[in-house]
Amino acid sequence: MHDIIIIGGGAAGFYSAIHIAEGLPNLNIAILERGKEVLTKVKVSGGGRCNVTHAQFDPKELSTNYPRGEKELLGPFHSYASGDTVGFFEERGIELKIEDDGRMFPVSNSSQTIIDCFTSEADRLGITLHTRCSVTGIKRIDNGTEYFWEVVTHENTFKTRYVVMATGSNPKMWNLIHQLGHTIVPPAPSLFTFNISDERISDIPGLSTVAEVSVLDKKGKHQKLKSKDIKEGVLFSEGPLLITHWGMSGPAILKLSAWGARLLKEYDYRFKISVNWAPEYHQNGLVDLFMEVKQVERKTVLRTKVLEIPKRLWKNLVAAAGIKDTETWPDVSKQQLQELAEQLTQCVFQVNGKSTFKEEFVTAGGVELKEVNFKTYESKLLPQLYFAGEIINVDAITGGFNFQNAWTGGYLAAQGIIHNETLNK
Ligand SMILES: Cc1cc2nc3c(=O)[nH]c(=O)nc-3n(C[C@H](O)[C@H](O)[C@H](O)COP(=O)(O)OP(=O)(O)OC[C@H]3O[C@@H](n4cnc5c(N)ncnc54)[C@H](O)[C@@H]3O)c2cc1C
Repeated sequence: MHDIIIIGGGAAGFYSAIHIAEGLPNLNIAILERGKEVLTKVKVSGGGRCNVTHAQFDPKELSTNYPRGEKELLGPFHSYASGDTVGFFEERGIELKIEDDGRMFPVSNSSQTIIDCFTSEADRLGITLHTRCSVTGIKRIDNGTEYFWEVVTHENTFKTRYVVMATGSNPKMWNLIHQLGHTIVPPAPSLFTFNISDERISDIPGLSTVAEVSVLDKKGKHQKLKSKDIKEGVLFSEGPLLITHWGMSGPAILKLSAWGARLLKEYDYRFKISVNWAPEYHQNGLVDLFMEVKQVERKTVLRTKVLEIPKRLWKNLVAAAGIKDTETWPDVSKQQLQELAEQLTQCVFQVNGKSTFKEEFVTAGGVELKEVNFKTYESKLLPQLYFAGEIINVDAITGGFNFQNAWTGGYLAAQGIIHNETLNK
C-alpha cells in the first residue's frame, strides 16, 4: 500500500510531492507520469525560459489575473502566492529575475534550471518516480473498515490512501473524475492569437503599439457582459498589441482570448473587434484636434506627426481613410478627417479563426470549482482525493500566473494531506 500517489509528473504534481515529502518524510510517495519524461510543459514554457511566476505580491491583485478562479483563489493566495514561490526557489539556490512587464524567470534564462531543481529535490526526498505509467482507472474502496484508492495503470494496480490528481488538461482524466461523481466544466482553449487578413495591417508584421481592443457583438456593439467569465461589463482590454503575419497578438489580444475563451468559442472564432490605436482619444476629440491642425499645418497629412503611433501604421490608416499620400491638411475635407479619426479610434477588423500562442497556452474548463475545498484542494465529494493545477477549472492570462496556480494548488494540497495525517495520528 502506498501512502500517497500523485498522478501527473508536471508542475503541480512535483510541487505537491516535494511539499508532502518535506512535511511527512516517512511516507511512501510516488508520482505516476504517462510520458517518458516529466515536466515537459515546464521545459517548453516561456519560450524555453519558464516564466515561473509574476511579480504581483498582493493576493487580491494577483487573483484578478484569473478569468476562471478569481474568487476562489483569493483565499489560497493569502496562504501561498508569488512571494512564497520566489522563496521556494531561493532556498534551493535558484535566483529569479523580474522583467519590465513583471514576469519572473530564472536568472539562468533556462527552464532546465527549474526541472533540475524539482527532479533533484524529488530524488533527495525519496519520492518514487514511475514514467511511462499512464493511469487508466481510479476506484474508491470503502468497505466500512477500510478506505483507500486503487489507481489502475496498464501494468499495475497501485493501492494508496491518498490521491493527488495533477494531470493538467487531459480529457481522459476528466472523464474518470466525472465517473467518480464530479462535474467537469467542458474545455475551451485560452491564450490564443487572432487571425485577421486585412490590408491595413498586412504589410506591417512585427509592429507593436499600445492599443485598446474590444470585441463587438453581432450587432456591432461592444460585447456586453454575458457570462461571469467577462469582467468589465464588456469584453475589452488594453496594452501592447503586436501585428503578426497572421493577424494580431500581444498582451492586449491574449487578455481578450483569456477573458473571452468561452464566448469566442461559441462564436467559432469568427467575430469583429474594434481597435483604438490612440487610446488617449475618442473619435470626437480627435476630429477636434485634426480641425485645429488643419488651421495651421501646410504639410501632407501623411508626413505630419500628430499622434504617438508608429509611422507605418499611420500611413496605412491615412490611406484607409481615403487620404492620398500627396494631400495636405488644407486639401482634406472634414469628412475625410472624420474618417481618419474613425480609423484611429474605432478601427473594425474581422477575426477569422485563431492561432496558437507558442510561448504559453492553457485550457479553460476542468473540475467544477464549487466541488473543491480551496483551503486544502481536497474534493468536497470524495475524501482523500486532491486536485492541483490546470485540472481544476482555473486558468489565467499570460505572464506566469498559470504556473502560480499550479504552485499554490500543489502546496495547499500538500498542507491538506499533512494536516489530515497529523490529525489521524
Ligand atoms: C507551450 C506552453 C508554454 C507555457 N508557458 C508558461 C509560462 O511560461 N508560464 C506559465 O505560468 N504558464 C505557462 N504555461 C501553462 C503551464 O504550463 C500550465 O498551466 C501548467 O503546466 C499546468 O501544470 P499542471 O501540473 O497542472 O499540468 P501539466 O504541466 O500539464 O502536467 C500534467 C502532467 O500529467 C501527466 N498526465 C496526464 N494524464 C496522465 C495519466 N493518465 N497518467 C499519468 N500521467 C498523466 C502529463 O503527461 C503531464 O506531465 C505554458 C503552457 C504551454 C503549453
